[in-house]
Amino acid sequence: MHWRMRSNRREFIGELTAMGGMMLIPPNLGLTPAAVTGDTDTPKMYELPDLPYRYAALDPVIDEKTLTIHHTKHHAGYTRGLNKVLAQMRKTAEAGDFSNISQLTRLLAFHGAGYVNHTQFWHNMAPSDKGGGGAPSGKLAAKINADFGSLKAFRDCFATASKKVMGSGWGLLGYHPELKRLLVLSVGNHENALLPGIVPLLILDVWEHAYYIKYQNRRSDFVDAWWNIVNWKDVEKRFAAHPAR
Ligand code: MN
Repeated sequence: MHWRMRSNRREFIGELTAMGGMMLIPPNLGLTPAAVTGDTDTPKMYELPDLPYRYAALDPVIDEKTLTIHHTKHHAGYTRGLNKVLAQMRKTAEAGDFSNISQLTRLLAFHGAGYVNHTQFWHNMAPSDKGGGGAPSGKLAAKINADFGSLKAFRDCFATASKKVMGSGWGLLGYHPELKRLLVLSVGNHENALLPGIVPLLILDVWEHAYYIKYQNRRSDFVDAWWNIVNWKDVEKRFAAHPAR
């Protein structure tokens, strides 16, 4: 248990460093390392969702070790972080002192987006012998052609947006119900530069933890290989859930 707590703390600190350093947590928030890493005082409002496949199922595009760590350490860390921040916000409300609310909302956005993005990411992928790869069809394919010109243009746009994320982040294909368009975004961290209201349809994690064991610094190779495990049926389902198009 001891090593696990230390590991979690390193992970959390790593996340904070990635978002700009420990300065984001003022000492009076009560988010001490012990409080962050210990699960005992944090209500389990959200739990780590299961993967829809085995840890080795996406090999060779994503190796078993990477997927195991990504799910059981990183996604689990965002889940704990989300619960922790929500509990802290509840205490803030009970105390009637909202002086730290801007820091808390930043942490909520970071961990909440980390939780939600990863939950979707797992379902956006499928083993290549169970539907992964190929191309979109139906109304989604038609909309991609309408908004990007061609499937190739969309893929080039999405791949480049993913490869060119500065530091940690995500490539994202989303549908915006107000603009009635498909859009590709290059998202910093888990949530920066997200267009409010956009519905993510397909997201690609390009944090180093998503690929470094197998690909090292070759993020570009990871992005190119990743198309072979895209679960287009899942993407089409998410698009179909938004009738105003
Ligand atoms: Mn990740």
